[in-house]
Amino acid sequence: MPHIVLVATGGTIASFAATEGGPVSAGLSGDALLQSLHAPLPGITVEVDNFTVAGSNALTLEAVHGVCRHIDARLSEPGVDGVVVTHGTDTMEESAFLARLLVRSDKPVVFTGAQRHAGQPDTDGPRNMRDAILAAAIPDLTGVGAVILFEGEIHGARHVSKVHASRVDTFRSNGHGKLGEVDEDEVHLYTRPARPRLVLDAPLLDPEVELVAAGLGSTPRYLEWCASSGVSGVVIEAFGRGNAPKGYAEAIRKLVAAGIPVILATRCTEGRTRAIYGSDGGAVTLVEAGAILAGDLSAAKARLLLAALLPTLPAGPERLALIAEAVTKV
Ligand code: ASP
Repeated sequence: MPHIVLVATGGTIASFAATEGGPVSAGLSGDALLQSLHAPLPGITVEVDNFTVAGSNALTLEAVHGVCRHIDARLSEPGVDGVVVTHGTDTMEESAFLARLLVRSDKPVVFTGAQRHAGQPDTDGPRNMRDAILAAAIPDLTGVGAVILFEGEIHGARHVSKVHASRVDTFRSNGHGKLGEVDEDEVHLYTRPARPRLVLDAPLLDPEVELVAAGLGSTPRYLEWCASSGVSGVVIEAFGRGNAPKGYAEAIRKLVAAGIPVILATRCTEGRTRAIYGSDGGAVTLVEAGAILAGDLSAAKARLLLAALLPTLPAGPERLALIAEAVTKV
């Protein structure tokens, strides 16, 4: 009989409004969530493990690093077959990406949550949670890395993102597609990620890596601030193929010269960065200035990769090459 550990961290799935029409906040334990399931679990035992009760928008890198360490510890127990993490949807794709990167065990790790809170009559939490437990109990997910189970779909953590602010079918792997789905009591895995998982042994996540989004005509002011403010790495969410506004190349050159690595991601939800365009702000110029292209890795996930890498890498010129290599392998 599969034994699944339910690591509860809060989120909308564990939230309700204390007063009619008042603010919604997290407050339910994993035990309450488990009691809300609409149908019994066929031949699966579930052990509740209450880790924290928070909105995922307010989680710190330190807390999520702790969640990943905790998942690994639980999965190292011979009697545990898989872990389900209940989590807020706002940053679920980031925590799932970190679990893919930091959890050593190959046993299934399934993140889930809800868009409609537990006090709403049509909350999506109980069904998502039941589906997630069913998915974590099948050996097919072994070696796939962390996934998100939501509205019946299974999405790999590398490509998934939250695409709708309120609808229940909010998770998509744009340009890649889902890995599988749950249909009543059946779990179907259609696809496995082609690339082997990059696993990092990060003792901590560097909280000083900043994410800067470019907009039409925006100034390099934030990058200049980063150069003088104790920031240890910068990810720029740039345009299209990885192009940015005027003045960014010079700001990147200064950051890199000061030993602060810069990764350039695209704000497009599909496709890859590539150094094609020259002139001030073109990706050719930005790469010449020292920026590393993120390929199809989102800016939010590139920031987490950099935060996991920096504490482990030697200072010095080879650092940039090691970061660039990790970006191609993740
Ligand atoms: N703010 C909530 C959170 O991320 C939203 C959710 O769970 O859907 O915790």
